[in-house]
Amino acid sequence: MTKTELNKFKAILEKKQAELETVLRNRDAIAIEKSPDALDEVQHAAERELAIRNLDRESNLLRNVRAALRRIEDASFGVCMHCEDDISPKRLAAVPWAPYCISCQEMADRNREQFNGQDLFEELTHAA
Ligand SMILES: [Zn+2]
Repeated sequence: MTKTELNKFKAILEKKQAELETVLRNRDAIAIEKSPDALDEVQHAAERELAIRNLDRESNLLRNVRAALRRIEDASFGVCMHCEDDISPKRLAAVPWAPYCISCQEMADRNREQFNGQDLFEELTHAA
């Protein structure tokens, strides 16, 4: 990957990181909102649950974005963290923070389903 391409990805990732940090900061305020009305409480509980799910997804995304920025710094960006093949440019263009190539990602997703939501694949690859 050329320096120009890396800088382009770095700019995209830094922008995404700033976006997510803003969203996550604002989410905190929504999540603790309280209402005296019982019906509102039900409504708010549903909203809170949704907010927490989104929060979870966005925190994960932020973690991936930060990890990708670190990989730009240590020159391992664009290389699959599992099999060490190059991640296809098309995939990186769509998901610049992707830590795995498409086949490893599919394997990770399958493992996650199999192990009932447990992040076993990630534990295994991080231990390696
Ligand atoms: Zn791979």
